Amino acid sequence: MGTVILFLVIYSAITFFKKVSPYIILVAVILYIYTLIKKIFIFSWQALTSVPGLIIIGLLLLGLIGYYGYRHNRCAVCGKMYRQNQYVAVTDDKVCLNCMQAIGVDVKQLPTAVHVEKTLTVAEIKALQKNNIIIDPLQRWEAYQAKDATPESSTLTAKQVTDLRELKRLLDDGIITQADFDAKKRQILGI
Ligand SMILES: [Zn+2]
Repeated sequence: MGTVILFLVIYSAITFFKKVSPYIILVAVILYIYTLIKKIFIFSWQALTSVPGLIIIGLLLLGLIGYYGYRHNRCAVCGKMYRQNQYVAVTDDKVCLNCMQAIGVDVKQLPTAVHVEKTLTVAEIKALQKNNIIIDPLQRWEAYQAKDATPESSTLTAKQVTDLRELKRLLDDGIITQADFDAKKRQILGI
């Protein structure tokens, strides 16, 4: 009988634990405190492994798992809840498949080797959606890999430009030699 009750409680908890997990935690904590007060002087392994004890532990675990899932199943772009396995991990967060589809990325249609989501950020997806831009995931992934294979073309920082201008002026004024200039230039560019 006890086993049947335990099974029924756990079964119904699994069915509803997503939505009611915060309440499950509350009920479990109240039950736990109640049991603690009641059994505080005879608290033993027997109490812990009794049916009520197991139910309380089970409820606590389900509640915690459900609450964790509840907190971590929100799409970073549209803010809606998504079901388990209905999301992809982009560079900085998780995004639901609907939001990916809105920018032309149908993850389920793509070969598993294409990880276009790794090239996208939440801000970028929001911008693409806002401007109704559809991307070609295969092309984008190829471009991303090609970019990864070859070193990025160096873009100068503002400080480097200022330093190089100053250096050129020193050379033109005859304060430093061409050799000095070349050495210093390499140092500024870090090559
Ligand atoms: Zn979404």
